[in-house]
Amino acid sequence: MTDTRYLVHGVFWDGPPALSAASDGGRPVLRLQHLSGGFTEMTLDAGTRLGFRVADGAKHCLGHTRVFSAAERRHFPCPDSAGAVRGSQCETCQLADDTRLIHDFHRGGRVPAGLRDYLMQPHWLYVATFANGASKIGTASQPRKWNRLAEQGAVVARYVALAGDGRVVRILEDLATGELGFAQQVRGAAKAAALTDPGPGVELDLLNRRRAEDVRTLLARTAVGGFAVVDEQWIRPAQAAPLCAGAARHAYPHGMVGGSHGFTLGALCGSHGLARLDGSELDFVVNLGLLKGRLVEPGEYSSQVPAVQEALF
Ligand SMILES: [Zn+2]
Repeated sequence: MTDTRYLVHGVFWDGPPALSAASDGGRPVLRLQHLSGGFTEMTLDAGTRLGFRVADGAKHCLGHTRVFSAAERRHFPCPDSAGAVRGSQCETCQLADDTRLIHDFHRGGRVPAGLRDYLMQPHWLYVATFANGASKIGTASQPRKWNRLAEQGAVVARYVALAGDGRVVRILEDLATGELGFAQQVRGAAKAAALTDPGPGVELDLLNRRRAEDVRTLLARTAVGGFAVVDEQWIRPAQAAPLCAGAARHAYPHGMVGGSHGFTLGALCGSHGLARLDGSELDFVVNLGLLKGRLVEPGEYSSQVPAVQEALF
């Protein structure tokens, strides 16, 4: 009998950027790994039907990545089919993963030649603001300039600097974090919660503009070289617009550690979907990022509608 279970790697936005706020971009997919090796993808366009059963309660190791050059990297499945102990990896895969060294490179850490090649390409520094007004500072390599922000689920974002390489950009990132009190991470759970009651678009844009200006002002007087200050707005993909607009909606009522799930996707912001359940007129925000490392079995399933819908209001 063929195994119909897949290991979820997460939501990826690897397609071409949105060209205007009215255009879709990134061709988002849920990436699934066959247990026999190889990958398949489920597109996450508006109107997509997602149905699956979470096959066990465990979180599985997603393997590791080797970086061979700026353009070439390769994924290796977990040799032991182990459970994930930290993040989405077992200890062996975590140690074998080249990308874990990225964060120490600008502090003088040694890196393999392929990763060095990747890190020495131009990188962008950005300020992203999420639906609750929380802002973070972050970096994106030149080829991932747009996609990185789409994956993050930013509601508004601006690029503030273009650095000659990935070392300089992380020095700038640390500088802004220390001087201006930025977060470098906003947790997925916080992003999902924020999308159930997003702030007004005009306010979020103003907030982002101010935070971006703060960074530019800081960068204008730093002694660090090797970068140019820029002022460029990130274009949010049209798929995210319905989620970023204020509306009555609720957190998805089921956990992702088990059970069966099925719903129609109405919009997507980062890895957060707007889910319409069968037999309900309500919209729910579902964090598809929670499926990362889970073993799922696709099928014709339907999520249970919460018994007393009124109680949600
Ligand atoms: Zn592993």
